[in-house]
Amino acid sequence: MNLEAAGQSLHKKLFESYEKYQEKTLAHQRLTHAEVQTILKKVEKNNQYTIKKLGESVEGRSISMVSIGTGDMPILLWSQMHGDEPTATLALADIFNFFSASGDAFDGYRKEVLGKLTLHFIPMLNPDGSDRFQRRNALDIDLNRDAARLQCPESQILKGTRDELHAVFGFNLHDQSRFYSAGESNENPAAISFLAPAFNYEKDINDVRKRAMQVIGLLDDMLQEYAPNKVAKYNDDFEPRAFGDNIQKWGTSTILVESGGYIGDPEKQYIRKLNYVLLLQSFRHIADGSYKKESIKKYDKIPFNDRSMHSVIVRNVSREMNGKKFLVDIATVHNEYHEEGERKAFRYRGQISEMGDLSVYHAYQELEGKNMDAVEGKVYPTVIENEDAFNQLDYKKLLSEGYTAVRVANWPKEKRYVDVPTNVLKGLNSSHGEIDLNGRANFTLQENGKVKYAVVNGFLYDLSKSLEINEGNGEVY
Ligand SMILES: [Zn+2]
Repeated sequence: MNLEAAGQSLHKKLFESYEKYQEKTLAHQRLTHAEVQTILKKVEKNNQYTIKKLGESVEGRSISMVSIGTGDMPILLWSQMHGDEPTATLALADIFNFFSASGDAFDGYRKEVLGKLTLHFIPMLNPDGSDRFQRRNALDIDLNRDAARLQCPESQILKGTRDELHAVFGFNLHDQSRFYSAGESNENPAAISFLAPAFNYEKDINDVRKRAMQVIGLLDDMLQEYAPNKVAKYNDDFEPRAFGDNIQKWGTSTILVESGGYIGDPEKQYIRKLNYVLLLQSFRHIADGSYKKESIKKYDKIPFNDRSMHSVIVRNVSREMNGKKFLVDIATVHNEYHEEGERKAFRYRGQISEMGDLSVYHAYQELEGKNMDAVEGKVYPTVIENEDAFNQLDYKKLLSEGYTAVRVANWPKEKRYVDVPTNVLKGLNSSHGEIDLNGRANFTLQENGKVKYAVVNGFLYDLSKSLEINEGNGEVY
């Protein structure tokens, strides 16, 4: 069946049927090498695929390539060169399921794409970094700055594979900060950012780079349907040590895809779906050559990433100092981390990221705080004996009295976070609650001395509602 003839565009059909192909065993960001191995074992059962071990990481974890297709145009995709950037790896697992399926509305698509292209996927190029949920590899080297020197086995694998395949197109799959917006003063975080990397300092456009720009232009058009005004492009300054820039130079049209942020999607499952749709749609554009008639003007008009997002902004609050009141906006950001050996949820450290006139910035959550005073969080005066006694506390009452931290005498040493809206001070004389730039974000918003909202570890709580409790929201320090 021809999809377009059936009156529905390919990407729409891909988008709507996504859940059918989604790899449901993977549902969060803290993906491990072992989980990827499980996916590869499943993929191996389908004899359309070949799996080749390309080599090993610094610490001896295997790095493999999954290939499918009989076409004479080789396409290479690699994900998770940075260990803490797994969104595209999740989408690749979905794509493996998609190509394993048959007898559905996509049989014609598979026949066309796999007849013209051979797709080569390297899921998780940096398994040592991935298992630590860190950007760099086990040598603490950023692989994306090792494309010229090629000292790391992971870098040698990527370079060697590109050279052996002479891939026509390359997809360099990353995650970027959630705090980029799609263009200056745009209230939307950039869900996806693209780049057709430059291959020289002059940022020349040759045929190789132009092809990447043409495909990206089409993808931007398409994504406006699913993430309107949430697509951006990366700065194209030439970086002589980066892989994208060098692979473009070596003759493979290179498309950088960065998974950014999306409101209400902390585990990036919607952005994963966008990756799935945009990659499968790209294969079609490349297979049928439809991108060749595109102008690069579409690429040019994609807005640049702008670092103007924060987690929370409270606007127009007053802050007292030396008996005088000042009008300020206060922004916080959350830095994600995860505990060693524990992968079920992110933990967060909140900090005050900006203060003053923040009218040009935006946040995942915003509050108009007119007539409210921002008041430093207080430490509860009674020292609590232990964790059990701590668990009996009425947190909402504490917040309504302006307390954002509790001192606990015998706290379990290894526990560095709590799931309730307060902080735990282990050092019984620790200071807490200053409203300082780059300091911890713990304060209350009061109207005529009554606490209306509380900001605890950077999270905003509305005390007129039942408090939303999230794992790992409070800090221990
Ligand atoms: Zn990256």
